[in-house]
Amino acid sequence: MRESFGASAPLVSITKLRTIENTKNRGAVERNEDKGLLSNDFGDDRFLRYQMQSASKHLLPNHRVGICLRHQIQRYGDVSLFKHRSTQKAFYGGLMVCGSVWVCPVCAAKISERRRSELKIAFDSHLQQGGYCTMVTLTFSHSRTDKLQDLLIALSKSVQDFSRGGRDRVFRESIGLVGKIRAFEITYGQNGWHPHIHLLLMHNNEIEPWEREEVRDKLYDMWEGACAKNGLSTNYEHGLKIDDAAEASQYIGKWGDIMDKPWGTDSEMTKANIKKGRAGSMTPFDFLRAVIEDGDLQYEDKFREYAAATKGMHQLVWSRGLKAKYLIEDKSDEEVATEKIEEADLLGLLDWQEWRYILHNGLRATLLNYVELYGYYDALEKLGLKKEKPTANYNDEQPSGRG
Ligand SMILES: [Zn+2]
Repeated sequence: MRESFGASAPLVSITKLRTIENTKNRGAVERNEDKGLLSNDFGDDRFLRYQMQSASKHLLPNHRVGICLRHQIQRYGDVSLFKHRSTQKAFYGGLMVCGSVWVCPVCAAKISERRRSELKIAFDSHLQQGGYCTMVTLTFSHSRTDKLQDLLIALSKSVQDFSRGGRDRVFRESIGLVGKIRAFEITYGQNGWHPHIHLLLMHNNEIEPWEREEVRDKLYDMWEGACAKNGLSTNYEHGLKIDDAAEASQYIGKWGDIMDKPWGTDSEMTKANIKKGRAGSMTPFDFLRAVIEDGDLQYEDKFREYAAATKGMHQLVWSRGLKAKYLIEDKSDEEVATEKIEEADLLGLLDWQEWRYILHNGLRATLLNYVELYGYYDALEKLGLKKEKPTANYNDEQPSGRG
């Protein structure tokens, strides 16, 4: 399994496609899964996302990510190809999706985009109504030997303890809290797993700049107590950070952007650092990228550990009534991953055999890219699937043809 996305399996360009097509060796096809084209060929991240999804599937054989955008909704059913009218982006219909924001880079991209716009709506509306926003980041000390699952359980309990009791009530009343959004984040660095929490507070009373230090100290005290109660330790310097609306807005703007760390440009995380195992900070999707792009297999077990630990966890939690207040529909990750809200045109269908061909040759992302570039029929032809093109007459509307 390992070589399926290891460094030894070179990325192949479309000119070499024929080699993959003609191979009788199923293993060779698998090895090249979703590697039909380099991601940069279209300046598009889609390819990398599909590759990362394939890596996730291989690492998590019993997870739903394995069926995502692979299995038809109906057995032997057709797969449809659509194109969004406004964005001109192609996408598939008739396929199952997994809706996992934690382990599926394709679903995560779609879900995060929606969550980002929801956060932005609430945040902007609140500020426009004269409100204030503050972001509180909660962290604790950890080491390389800590298990992620243990840390997540202790962190969840600590944040619950932090947000209840008399002192929290006094704080909430003092700032005129309207609502809050809790975001879980998990990164990995020199000191092992680093799960942490961002709390976006929307409130009606301003925290004046000269009050911030005092507020921070009070909150830190509460956080330290909550951590201690659940066997975690934290420290004054790093344990609790307060950011104002401008910084919170920046955070929201980048929410869930799994592609915002291109290799080699982020000073914290470069290929060289990853190779040395000294990455400043990696996200779990960076593990998949490291495995795919660098053939660095040390992150396989880490990704599995992460997938098991986050199972059933909510990444974003809004306080009760807050979504309704800003008229944001409450949709689950699965619902967001499956829905099609934009107007789209149906370009054509692929029968199950054609879909199997696309799937087994790792052409899911390439087909979408090609359809956008060349149109439906030429795209299929270029990928070795010839479809009968309709004649000009077929397309022409016959004005008086239908009595
Ligand atoms: Zn998925």
